[in-house]
Amino acid sequence: MRTQVAVIGAGPAGLLLSHLLRRGGVDSVVVETRSQEYVASRIRAGILEQSSVDLLTAAGLGDRLRAEGHEHRGIYLQMPGERHHLDFVDLIGRTVWVYGQTEVQKDLIAAGTAEVHYEVTGTTLHDVETDRPYVTFVDSGGAARRIDADVIAGCDGSFGPSRHAVPSETFERTYPYSWLGILADVAPSTDELIYAWHPNGFALHSMRSDTVSRLYLQVPNGTDPASWPDDRIWQELATRLGHGEHGWKLTGGPVTDKSVLPMRSYVQTPMRHGRLFLAGDAAHIVPPTGAKGLNLAIADVTLLSQALVAWLRAGRPALAESYSDDALRRVWRCTHFSWWMTTMLHTGSDPFDAQLQLSQLRWVTTSNAGATGLAENYAGLPIGF
Ligand SMILES: Cc1cc2nc3c(=O)[nH]c(=O)nc-3n(C[C@H](O)[C@H](O)[C@H](O)COP(=O)(O)OP(=O)(O)OC[C@H]3O[C@@H](n4cnc5c(N)ncnc54)[C@H](O)[C@@H]3O)c2cc1C
Repeated sequence: MRTQVAVIGAGPAGLLLSHLLRRGGVDSVVVETRSQEYVASRIRAGILEQSSVDLLTAAGLGDRLRAEGHEHRGIYLQMPGERHHLDFVDLIGRTVWVYGQTEVQKDLIAAGTAEVHYEVTGTTLHDVETDRPYVTFVDSGGAARRIDADVIAGCDGSFGPSRHAVPSETFERTYPYSWLGILADVAPSTDELIYAWHPNGFALHSMRSDTVSRLYLQVPNGTDPASWPDDRIWQELATRLGHGEHGWKLTGGPVTDKSVLPMRSYVQTPMRHGRLFLAGDAAHIVPPTGAKGLNLAIADVTLLSQALVAWLRAGRPALAESYSDDALRRVWRCTHFSWWMTTMLHTGSDPFDAQLQLSQLRWVTTSNAGATGLAENYAGLPIGF
């Protein structure tokens, strides 16, 4: 096969990149190890920044999002006995949207713009330092295939081969806790997300729709989900989220999904080597506390699609040359914000740290300057920041 851009990975980064390239008049072919059904049903992120919503809308992918997604004015931050609402609209004039990554993925598949080879094996990148890079793989029927391209886009997440093909510096932080996440068939007990600091550990009440709730508990690394029967989860969520305080009630329901997610920060620089460009989780991972992973993937491929269209259609390579630096500015801002939210809200055994966290939370919830800083980062800085 011959195409202009060989895209590795059909997650949100890969499919959206292919979609944006097609709209810009650049051809691409995507290869993906998993099946289309698996990719479309993987439960992951659920919050879209204002700029992600604007971008998806401008790319013709906003109809279902605006009809079925939920626009939120802000979030709640909570300490024992106190719940504060941060109103992003009042603070910075921007909102966030609740719309699951599964739905974004389904919209991208339904758009049908990307040529995707699902269920491939043995994806290998070749000659990325030359003007004639290519990718080889074995297709779902067992045939050996080769894609010759002008450029390869590595959108294959943190476990894919692309990031290993970039000689790079890595910056990494692991955290001493994980999230136990559940999906439950019950109407959310809150109109907007609740981020709760509690001596037992952090808890988050999020949601996916009017009838589906998504909730998380901070748990130690290595926790086996089987050690948390549903009753124990609901009981601990009730404690940490303040069931019964000021008349608020947490309603439990059938748990349909349960998993443990380790927390990690990771940045690989640069995000380009020769004709290989990295985007999304292939280049960086953030802990989910700041809701940035999916939004960063969208921001990366927005910049990358503009750069590749300018280069491959108009022969102007300047944006491609600055892509890594341009993308990393936002990546590091989001990496810092995600680390900041994570370390402010997750508890440990040090009482000094706990007092610093509570002091920080009081400042953010009572100072206009503190609240505005959080709102600006959470609702997302403009693409290109
Ligand atoms: C388990 C998990 C849970 C998460 N939960 C949350 C959350 O609750 N909140 C939040 O904000 N963020 C969450 N995130 C982060 C968010 O989902 C990611 O940031 C987002 O998926 C990044 O998109 P991406 O396209 O860059 O990578 P991915 O979505 O990982 O897509 C990469 C794709 O590449 C494919 N691939 C891998 N190797 C190969 C290969 N050799 N050949 C071809 N294809 C390959 C993969 O199968 C995958 O489809 C979570 C991430 C994970 C991994």
